[in-house]
Amino acid sequence: MLAQHPFTSKINLIRTRLTLWIIGILAIGFLLLVLITFLIAHSLLVRLTIERLQQNVTSLSDAFGQENPGTNLTLVHNQLDAFSTSKSYLQYQNLQGRPIASSKNMGKLILPLAQLKSAIQANRVIQDVPFNKSSFMMYGHVVVVKGKVQGYILSAYNITDNNAIDLLLTLQYSGIVIILTLAAISVWLLVRHIMLRPLEHLANAASQIAMTRDHSLRLHIGKRPDEINRLAQNINSMLYSLEDAYQQMQHINDLQRSFLADVSHELRTPLTIMLSSLDLMKKEQGRDPEFQANALENIHSETERMARMVTRLLMLARTDAGASFAREPLLIVDIINEACRQSSPSSRTIQLECQGFEIIEDAVVAGNADYLKQVFLILLENAYKYTLDDGKVTVIAAIQRQQVAISISDTGIGIPSDDLASLFERFYRAKNARTQPGMGLGLSIAKSIIEQHNGTIRVESILTQGSCFTISLPLLNE
Ligand code: ADP
Repeated sequence: MLAQHPFTSKINLIRTRLTLWIIGILAIGFLLLVLITFLIAHSLLVRLTIERLQQNVTSLSDAFGQENPGTNLTLVHNQLDAFSTSKSYLQYQNLQGRPIASSKNMGKLILPLAQLKSAIQANRVIQDVPFNKSSFMMYGHVVVVKGKVQGYILSAYNITDNNAIDLLLTLQYSGIVIILTLAAISVWLLVRHIMLRPLEHLANAASQIAMTRDHSLRLHIGKRPDEINRLAQNINSMLYSLEDAYQQMQHINDLQRSFLADVSHELRTPLTIMLSSLDLMKKEQGRDPEFQANALENIHSETERMARMVTRLLMLARTDAGASFAREPLLIVDIINEACRQSSPSSRTIQLECQGFEIIEDAVVAGNADYLKQVFLILLENAYKYTLDDGKVTVIAAIQRQQVAISISDTGIGIPSDDLASLFERFYRAKNARTQPGMGLGLSIAKSIIEQHNGTIRVESILTQGSCFTISLPLLNE
């Protein structure tokens, strides 16, 4: 036998509880109805019986008062019989309580006159009088002939077996049992097929998604705009968000993995060059001074490269942590000159041209010299890196509307137009740049530094012809 799924057993539990609740409420309702109808019917019946009892007895005593009952006993018997029924007795007693005539159904029974005397005087009916092993309702009336009390007409009505009430109760009880059984079956089926079946489907589909861990799966949404479909829609939109978050996490994980690989590669290259230069120097033992000078130059430039990389990684970590940096008034031209000096390509035939530096000679910005120098170094190094030999890098400075604008353009490989929009994203590298070493971090660092200086950075590029990065920084009003 197949094991029952936990969701299914919970749904079964809901169904059983729902059915029991509905049946319970119905049962209480029906019982209250029966009780109220029983009470009303019972009091009506009692009233009717009392009225009939009083009417019969009064009519008989009136009739006997006109024709002296002592004169014609046969007539008295007949009249008592005529008014009695299987459940009611009638008896004519003299003043001492001796029966003169009785209805036939009484046999030799004598109704208790002594018990009834006070009720006769008050003209009322006594209920629940124990008599002849049963409970009776009794009423009596005096027979007055020519102004003189001759005797009493007594009547007793057996209230022990009230067939009408019994029948009513039996009918009602069996009706309730039948209705409750039918209601239980219909509620059970209704709840299962109409209310809980869609919920069951929903639970199964959700557990399938949980088990398969397939985040692209979605719940089926029916056509009816009911609560269950709304729930499915909500779960689906939750799944969309989860899938989105999951994909983003995966993307970040991938980026971090490749970042680690790139960082280790980038750091290992200068280290390898430095180590091999040192090895050679050791073997050479200072015999060739020119060789030594070259090797030292190599080690120096690789150390600089490593230091730059470590500085950038540090800046990235700081900007990520939201750390602010110290600012001071700076002559921007000094920073650009220093960056140009540090980044000039030593072994390649790329020409560097600077224009308009005299215009910005006195231009002062509020900022951090180290961070701004890093920005220009990033842009200049990129320009050299992505420009083929015999190309040209131009730095143009200008002042426009209280802003100092520095453009660094090159005649390099350019950037495909569909890469331009994502270029400043962290780790992003254009398709055509992958032959060159790099981590895709420089531009994102540059952008966040420039933005922290309230400036802007933008790029224009034509594939295979060159690129131009322009930085604008607000001038400090002195
Ligand atoms: P990296 O150069 O280390 O890859 P960057 O963040 O500095 O990282 O640059 C991101 C990408 O922008 C580069 O991979 C390259 O595709 C493109 N890029 C930046 N500068 C230039 C440039 N001067 N010429 C062509 N492409 C460039």
